Amino acid sequence: MSPVTAADRRRVLDAVPTGLFIGGSWGPAGDGGTFDVHDPATGEVLVSVADATPEDGLRALDAAVAAQAAWAATAPRERSEVLRRAFDLLRERADDLALLMTLEMGKPLAESRGEVAYGGEFVRWFSEEAVRVTGRYGTNPEGTGRTTVLHRPVGPCLLITPWNFPLAMATRKIAPALAAGCTVVVKPAEQTPLTTLAFTAILAEAGLPDGVVQIVPTTRAADVTGPLIDDPRLRKLSFTGSTPVGSQLLRQAATHVLRTSMELGGNAPFLVFEDADLDAAVTGALQAKFRNVGQACTAANRFFVHERVVDAFVDRVAEAVRGYRVGAGTDDGVDIGPLIDDRAVDKAAALVDDAVRRGAEVVVGGERLDGPGTFYAPTVVRDVAPGSEILRTEIFGPVLTVVPFADEDEAVRLANDTEYGLVAYAFTRDRARGQRLAERLETGMLGLDVGVVSNASAPFGGVKESGLGREGGSEGIHEYLETTYVMTPDPFGA
Ligand code: ADP
Repeated sequence: MSPVTAADRRRVLDAVPTGLFIGGSWGPAGDGGTFDVHDPATGEVLVSVADATPEDGLRALDAAVAAQAAWAATAPRERSEVLRRAFDLLRERADDLALLMTLEMGKPLAESRGEVAYGGEFVRWFSEEAVRVTGRYGTNPEGTGRTTVLHRPVGPCLLITPWNFPLAMATRKIAPALAAGCTVVVKPAEQTPLTTLAFTAILAEAGLPDGVVQIVPTTRAADVTGPLIDDPRLRKLSFTGSTPVGSQLLRQAATHVLRTSMELGGNAPFLVFEDADLDAAVTGALQAKFRNVGQACTAANRFFVHERVVDAFVDRVAEAVRGYRVGAGTDDGVDIGPLIDDRAVDKAAALVDDAVRRGAEVVVGGERLDGPGTFYAPTVVRDVAPGSEILRTEIFGPVLTVVPFADEDEAVRLANDTEYGLVAYAFTRDRARGQRLAERLETGMLGLDVGVVSNASAPFGGVKESGLGREGGSEGIHEYLETTYVMTPDPFGA
């Protein structure tokens, strides 16, 4: 790829819409307010975006409610084709979208291209699922009646997304909602609204009717979303973000018994057994840890490695990490971009310092890097003591922590010793052990001999405090469908 020029940056930033999108039109916030979006690699302001007020939020809900009946009545094939055209446009514009994403979020360009592809897959997948919503018909056990089960769109939805995957977290919610026949109000993260705004423009260009999608970037998340959650016209809340905010939203949602999907925090264990293919385990570990600069809810947070292979594992990952190039995501050959902000750097630093105070050894890295930009060195820490904060907290940074274990029972106990249960990874050549782990680990997803589990065709989601519901797969569309069952008498008169 040719290097990114100032003209490239200007072109993608000039093209991105910066207003609110409500009822099919772009416009300013009600009070004319805006907020700045920053490049985390430099701290510079990229562009200013309309800052939605609570009244704007309600206007967005009004538009979604007004468009709901017509969109639900639109033929599934037509809904499908809007999504398919959006997918084609995403593919056509992949390079510009990837650059926009790197500018606002920081990840290396190659990874942003990967996310455009991954995020696009949800649009393609749900364009296909839109025409495959079926019900069922059957005889009741007594033989006295017939049961018909049908699925209907749940209604207007509020979708709240995080900053770490600015496209994929949005498409993973918007595409199934639209496929199911729901209208939506999207509240993107204030750090990274640009990619989602660009995607909204693509949906409009793909022929989406007015009012089906609204987007309301805001710096006042709770003030804008609170009144919507309290409004009985809203029928569904889907949130991806931290467990504390998710839990607070669940309490709010309880008032009207609002349907919710919650994709919350993780604390993924990564198990390397003594019989693992070590090359594969190291490759998987690097992917599971350093993809997205460690800022993924699926990022491996705790590496439990059998004591017989722990030294070899640490040597190999440390060697790879020493070779990592750190820099702006737009620079050639960069492996590790900036973290999203100062708070993220402070958090990584505090967690590593706590682990070291409790006896852990820093093998590589272990320090914040000089600005401009918000960088933390890719780090490997070994022999992290039980009780260390870093084993309990989602790091969300490029820090790989290693803890040795002696046998399978201990590995499972350590892995399950967390309130989270989003994803686990395990490397072993023993197939039966792999199956035992699938049944013993408290997790919504398991990567067995792989370091990345995300796929549009699979049900993504967690157990325990990692959340409720699933996104992707055939399950993903059902988060946006109600079930109605109809009982009728036996048509033969029995
Ligand atoms: P993070 O710490 O990774 O930013 P958050 O859970 O704070 O995760 O944010 C995820 C999303 O939730 C963002 O869009 C953010 O603006 C939004 N958000 C944060 N707090 C609230 C809240 N109290 N009510 C509604 N949305 C919120």
